[in-house]
Amino acid sequence: MLLQVQISSAFAADKNLDASRMEQMPVVLSEYFSVLEDTTQTLTLADVQKPEVAARFNTDQAPASALNYGLTGSAYWLRLTLSNTSDQPLERMLEVAYPILTSIQFHYADAQGGYRTVDTGNALPFATRAYKNRAYVFPVTLPARSGQVVYLRLQSTTPIIVPANLWEPQAFHTHERNDYIAQSWYFGMATAMILFNLLLFIALRDAIYLFYVNFAFCTALAFSSEYGLAKEFLWPGATHWAIISTGILLSLSVAAGIAFMRRMLDTVKLIPKLDKLLKALTYLFLIIPFSLVLSIETFIRPAVSLIVATILLIFSVGLYCSFKRQRSAILFTIAFAILLAGAAAMVLRGLGYLPTNGFTAYGVQLGSAIEMLLLAFALADRFNVMRREKAKAQEEALKAQQHLVEHLQSHERILEDRVAERTGELEILNRKLEALSTTDGLTGIANRRRFDQVLESEWNRAARSGQPLALALIDVDWFKKFNDHYGHQAGDDCLRHVADVLAASVCRTSDLVARYGGEEFAFIAPATDADSALTMARKICEALHARGLPHEKSDFGCLSASIGVAVMIPKETDKADVLLKAADAALYRAKEQGRNKAVLAE
Ligand code: GH3
Ligand code: MG
Ligand code: MG
Repeated sequence: MLLQVQISSAFAADKNLDASRMEQMPVVLSEYFSVLEDTTQTLTLADVQKPEVAARFNTDQAPASALNYGLTGSAYWLRLTLSNTSDQPLERMLEVAYPILTSIQFHYADAQGGYRTVDTGNALPFATRAYKNRAYVFPVTLPARSGQVVYLRLQSTTPIIVPANLWEPQAFHTHERNDYIAQSWYFGMATAMILFNLLLFIALRDAIYLFYVNFAFCTALAFSSEYGLAKEFLWPGATHWAIISTGILLSLSVAAGIAFMRRMLDTVKLIPKLDKLLKALTYLFLIIPFSLVLSIETFIRPAVSLIVATILLIFSVGLYCSFKRQRSAILFTIAFAILLAGAAAMVLRGLGYLPTNGFTAYGVQLGSAIEMLLLAFALADRFNVMRREKAKAQEEALKAQQHLVEHLQSHERILEDRVAERTGELEILNRKLEALSTTDGLTGIANRRRFDQVLESEWNRAARSGQPLALALIDVDWFKKFNDHYGHQAGDDCLRHVADVLAASVCRTSDLVARYGGEEFAFIAPATDADSALTMARKICEALHARGLPHEKSDFGCLSASIGVAVMIPKETDKADVLLKAADAALYRAKEQGRNKAVLAE
């Protein structure tokens, strides 16, 4: 064909792409390009068309989904020979699907045989685009049976990556719609996760949710910038900001990611030394944005290297913490690995190692979406773990409290036992004291105090019951002489003997024997009539006499006693003194009548 001969004769080595015979959709353009590196960045379209320069284009491009020249200070010229061998005019769309190229110029032939230029790129407003899409899309019209050579000039502060495709408009529109659906799905999900976790932060007041929100927000925004959506919808007029935004947002995303990780994995406790480095890195990534504002050309290379190194570090820390059996770390590492796998898939596809499909094309977003979900799940899991730990701590506190209560109770019981013991001892002591206070020290029988108490109570009782009450006063005979003769010590022994005899003679439990004072004794016998009382008294005299305690100074030669007995049925108006006086009077008479006898009061 004449046309083809004409075209190919222009650049004999260039591959000609017949746009009317596109077998697959889209046609990947990498291998059809002839490429010229312009290290001076000064060549114009006219320059590259000059035969001596045109001859320097490299025509030998390997098939790959994208040309990749990395970070470079050069400008790149791409030359593409398109033809239409059909009888119909053709519309085609040339797409460069890398939205963050700083500058991209498209030169195409017009009807007059001259060239027109679309001058656009990230550094220019969105309005400069030939077609409104997040990628660079250049519609090309190819008249029937014609051909033309188009040029792309690229220059960028980002790596120069050129995933260029040629589409039929119909196929491109379908692709475009699916692409925007996929992007909307990702950003819709990211927005939902961000808002939901923001609400969780407000509700739970745990800063980790804010770290998550920060991280998800910066990441989603960095992606929206990277994928050209921010340029289309958020800042279409931005020029310088559009160029630096991706790097700045990526730095902030890494800073937020580290902050989130430190909190989530509790690296301060788990790996304190490395944690210091992570903390320093956080601050560094907060400073990097300023350096990019200052000069993106100078700082983009170290920033990218640092980001790559840090991503590897984050992954290593995640792995390390996972090996230390930290539950959150395992989920964190899986989530992060999925994001990295998505990114790796995208890079490998760009380099031609992986085919283009849904996963490799949207790997990063898919990875990022799954990461966000998994991290949110990890947060929920962390919440659960904390709740369990709290419940456990409460249970332990309760146990400790119960233990304390039991301890206190047992102590109380011991104390009560001791008090009871002491009280018992005191009661015994009291009884002893009581007994002591009513007992005569010398003879061991009741003393005068007890005698007075019993006499009064028996008097009153007898007065109530109308029964007779008997009282006897017993006085040892010639006791002064006994003392004088045998000594005071012997006198005391003698008094003890008299008490023994008395106690042995008066046996009824209701009776009382007491020492009345000095060598005088007494007994009280309730419900006893005069005869019985006198008999009791006589028995005492006899028993004492029968003992035969020697008393040389007595007429009887042995110890004896005289007893005055009085018996009355008490009147309530009288006092016990009446009885006492009567007994005393009887005793006086017994003495008078010669001693060693019992006399009943009249
Ligand atoms: P009478 O037959 O008239 O009762 O002669 P008496 O000597 O017993 O009479 P008196 O009442 O004059 O003497 C009582 C004496 O008893 C005087 C005192 O020394 C002695 N006496 C009193 N209390 C005690 C005592 O606790 N121990 C001793 N050893 N002697 C006592
Ligand atoms: Mg006396
Ligand atoms: Mg006497």
